[in-house]
Amino acid sequence: MEELLPKTKTVSCPVCGLTGAPQFHLYKGMKMHKCKGCKTVFLNPLPSTEDIKDFYHNSYENASTGYFSKVEKKMKRSRGRVKYMSRFIPSGTFLDIGSNGGFMVEAAREKGFLATGVEIDSVSVDYAQEHYPKNSYFTGTIEEFSNSGRQFDLAYCSEVIEHVPDVISFVEAISKVLRKGGVLYITTPDISHFRVPRDLTKWDAYGPPSHCIFFTPNSLKGLLERFGFRILRRRVAFKPGIKLICERL
Ligand SMILES: [Zn+2]
Repeated sequence: MEELLPKTKTVSCPVCGLTGAPQFHLYKGMKMHKCKGCKTVFLNPLPSTEDIKDFYHNSYENASTGYFSKVEKKMKRSRGRVKYMSRFIPSGTFLDIGSNGGFMVEAAREKGFLATGVEIDSVSVDYAQEHYPKNSYFTGTIEEFSNSGRQFDLAYCSEVIEHVPDVISFVEAISKVLRKGGVLYITTPDISHFRVPRDLTKWDAYGPPSHCIFFTPNSLKGLLERFGFRILRRRVAFKPGIKLICERL
């Protein structure tokens, strides 16, 4: 009997684990696949954590002054977000996962929180330490940081998860660093949003390998629920983005 070979190599979804995700889009030679179950779109193969660290280091290094332009605008937006988050938890400890130049960490401190930032890029951490020295910073991944056993009341993770090579260990680590009853604010692009251009190359949030995984509101919700989160609120986004407020049960 003739052996039947699969047409495409079996690819499993990094979010729900379902196998057989077909290729969805080819972008500059990179293969994007789409899960038939949860509809997550992801780069295959996904980059490694080391690739991501190198990528960030190189991308920030030459642009360190330019990158943190519009600092006042960034601070203003950060203050607005901290104000919104403080409706859920008004005081205590605050953790920014992917803290960049420390803008949210500083805004949280101004509001009275004891604030910490976790960031894989050392250039960004140096900037944060220099400009906002009253906060603490950790250079590394959230998985590495979660080994400290520290737990926080509020956590913020904005436009980071779409860069992450292993979203399972990432969300598990976030779950570990939040106390029971703690609140997480997470945002990421929404590939199922009606405003996403049909030609994905025209979408400003696209662009693997930097953005290597694209959620739908349901696939992100499902992942968070698996690690003990309950969605409290979904903020409406005019641009194709998911903004969720969740409670750690
Ligand atoms: Zn899936």
